[in-house]
Amino acid sequence: TLLEIRKFGDPVLQRPAKPVEKIDEKLLRLIAAMFRTMYAEPGIGLAAPQVGVSQRLMVLDVAPEGQSRPLVMINPFFVEKKGKIRSEEGCLSFPGIQVTVPRAARVKVSGINERGLPVTVEAEGLLSRCLQHEMDHLDGVVMIDRLRLPQRLKALWDIRQRKKAGLW
Ligand code: ZN
Repeated sequence: TLLEIRKFGDPVLQRPAKPVEKIDEKLLRLIAAMFRTMYAEPGIGLAAPQVGVSQRLMVLDVAPEGQSRPLVMINPFFVEKKGKIRSEEGCLSFPGIQVTVPRAARVKVSGINERGLPVTVEAEGLLSRCLQHEMDHLDGVVMIDRLRLPQRLKALWDIRQRKKAGLW
C-alpha cells in the first residue's frame, strides 16, 4: 500500500520534525512504504513529514530511470555547504508547481542509515539539490519559503488556481 502524500497547506509540512530515537520494525516498515510511495509517484526524494510523520527521516533515489540507488538518511545534518546555484525544483507536496530555488552548489551530509550505521554523502548536481530540499522538509521549510516575495506570491497564486481547477 502507498502512503498519502501531504500537500502544501497541511501543518505537518511546516513543523520541524523530531529526531528518530530508535530504528525498529515500525520505522523499517515506514521506510519501505516511503520508497514504494516515492517510486510510484514517481519522485526522487521524500521526507517523512510529507507522509504525515514528523520525524527526521528521508529517502532518496536520483538514479536515472531503470537504475536504482536508494539512499536512507536518518537524523541527517549538514557537514559542509559550498557555492551557490539556482535551479528548477518540484515537490510531491506541490503537484504541478515548479520554482527556481537558490541552493548551495555542493553539500556534505551525514546521518545514519536504516541499519543504524553512519553514512556521509558528498553531492553536487541533482543529488545535492535533492538532499537540501529534503533537509528543508525536516525543518518545516518548503521550497517556496526559499523564494523572494514576488516569486513566492506567484507560486501561491498558481497553487490557488490549481485548487480552483480541482488539480490540488
Ligand atoms: Zn518536497
